[in-house]
Amino acid sequence: MRQDFKISYSRINAYLFCPYRYKLIYIDNLYAPVNADTTFGHIIHRTLEQFCDGKKKYYDELVDCYNSSWKNDGFVSPWQTFEYYVRGNKILKNYYESFKKSKTEIVYVEKPFDTNIGKYSFVGIIDRIDRHPDGMYEVIDYKTHINIWEQEKVDKDLQLTFYAYACKNIFGVNPNKISVYFLSENKKIYTKRTQDDINKAIDIALDVAGKIASENFQADMSKCSLCNFHFKCKYSKEPKEEIK
Ligand code: SF4
Repeated sequence: MRQDFKISYSRINAYLFCPYRYKLIYIDNLYAPVNADTTFGHIIHRTLEQFCDGKKKYYDELVDCYNSSWKNDGFVSPWQTFEYYVRGNKILKNYYESFKKSKTEIVYVEKPFDTNIGKYSFVGIIDRIDRHPDGMYEVIDYKTHINIWEQEKVDKDLQLTFYAYACKNIFGVNPNKISVYFLSENKKIYTKRTQDDINKAIDIALDVAGKIASENFQADMSKCSLCNFHFKCKYSKEPKEEIK
């Protein structure tokens, strides 16, 4: 039985997608190819982390954070780099307008946590936790992709349920609101989690952790067409790309 691992939402998600994908990433230490979307998401998260340090409040400072966070990895052409840069500028303009009007206090930004689920170590990072003037807490998860989720998807999202668990158990904060902040449209969609939702998420985490511990990494080939590891995976039936 393996005991030398931690669980996180990302790890659980990788395992639920395909157990062999989990093995490729977390045991064989293979990296998925970097693309424009993953780089852009990282840049925007880093920008907002730097800006929300409690000291900055001007738009020029936000742009400075953006420029210092920028990196060119994963963009396929100068034109694509330019398009994403412009998109980021638009996101930050809209974000700043909402930031100026906001009455909430930012309590945590990119806050790491390290706790337990059962006998397993459970880790993660919460994008942001705000306190409202009435004392209520809001857990915020940033999304940088263009598509806005339906309410049902937000209500069922497993990552948000784990955030609710972490917030309550680690920071001693009961989140009255959970929101997904779709930055491309400057729109938040709100949801809540009950203790029953959290208990079900804990059961999923324990089930996955038990299978990882017993080294059950059976490939699920029904998802190969959606998997960005297919060119490195011996089970994939998808066409292989040349590895550069
Ligand atoms: S290519 Fe298919 S079998 Fe291989 S890790 Fe991805 S989903 Fe699993």
